[in-house]
Amino acid sequence: MAYFCKFKIKPMSQQIQMVDLRGQYLKIKDEIDEAMAQVLSSTAFINGPIVKEFQQNLSEYLHVGHVITCGNGTDALQIAMMALGLQPGDEVITTPFTFIATVEVVALLGLKPVFVDVIPGTFNMDVSQIERVITPRTKAIVPVHLFGQCTDMEPLMDIAQRHHLYVIEDACQAIGAEYTFSDGRKCKAGTIGHVGCTSFFPSKNLGCYGDGGALFTNDDELATRIRGIANHGSFVKYHHDLIGVNSRLDSFQAAILNVKLKYLDNYIASRQRAAKLYHFLLCDVAEIKPPVTAAQSTHVFHQYTLKLDERLNRSDVQEKLKAAGIPSMVYYPVPIHLQKAFAPFGYHAGDFPVAEKLSRTVLSLPMHTELTKDQQIHITKTLKQSLVI
Ligand SMILES: *Cc1c(COP(=O)(O)O)cnc(C)c1O
Repeated sequence: MAYFCKFKIKPMSQQIQMVDLRGQYLKIKDEIDEAMAQVLSSTAFINGPIVKEFQQNLSEYLHVGHVITCGNGTDALQIAMMALGLQPGDEVITTPFTFIATVEVVALLGLKPVFVDVIPGTFNMDVSQIERVITPRTKAIVPVHLFGQCTDMEPLMDIAQRHHLYVIEDACQAIGAEYTFSDGRKCKAGTIGHVGCTSFFPSKNLGCYGDGGALFTNDDELATRIRGIANHGSFVKYHHDLIGVNSRLDSFQAAILNVKLKYLDNYIASRQRAAKLYHFLLCDVAEIKPPVTAAQSTHVFHQYTLKLDERLNRSDVQEKLKAAGIPSMVYYPVPIHLQKAFAPFGYHAGDFPVAEKLSRTVLSLPMHTELTKDQQIHITKTLKQSLVI
């Protein structure tokens, strides 16, 4: 049929958005609609062949032995910790400057989150602080590749090896980012530790049109455990060897992701181009520090997050941007150790000064694959005019 989809969707290119899912969809609409129609006519809505096909394609893209899809990124992290056999009371070292999900699953499983502060430049875990907090109960490290660039994984893996710790990478914001080891070896985010986790939430760099997530590993046995745990702890139908969960990627989402995966490198390039232009337009502004990319990692710019001079009133800046039709966001306004829900772990203000200062000073600008040069000029011009100390 020439017109599979009868309703027409208008682009909203004039309006600036944090993420332009509609504009991106319109460019691949025919392919997406066709993929959806195929799932509809197959009626294989759960565990259809397209799920396996997507897992295979993503594992080839990442050069990793196994990709196991699941319901969302939070589940991926939880399943990873369950599959590694972490037990209540075990300690997990991670960063206080992340999305809540990273630490929420640690607490949910009865594990103890132990934080180390972040580096002010990259916002990622300060690996040099890890050894100080290792105890006999430490079992795992969870680096978060925040905003799209990798934590410094080479020294982190050295520490993990020396202390026999598992490494679970939270690569929810960094799919496609590449880390280079000192010997020149390159690995994609999420494929360096024992297990990597990602999210396909719509606004993520590889996003579906609902919820989705995946785990990556090169360990065959661990992959089997992960598959079983994500499927009610079952390895043989209706036989349950472990207490598991029900977490899966549905066939519609897999079909969408399978189309979008082909464009992921182009999407990354668009984000990097936009970041470069932002940098050019903002690098000479005294009150702003644009994001820094570490030498060892590429940056896929899930977010373009800058730091404002602490003397500026960030809410005022955001209000002025908003008045000019420009959305902005604060990722994240409260570090995890100061969240009310985490009070029982006994952390206090002042424990992680870098994360705390970042929470007060960061600002994320619109960043997506459809951002135009004119929009970026408007955004940066308005931003500069909004900086009144
Ligand atoms: C999005 C995200 C998650 C959770 O992913 P969901 O699919 O929303 O469950 C976890 N960690 C980080 C760093 C994220 O950005």
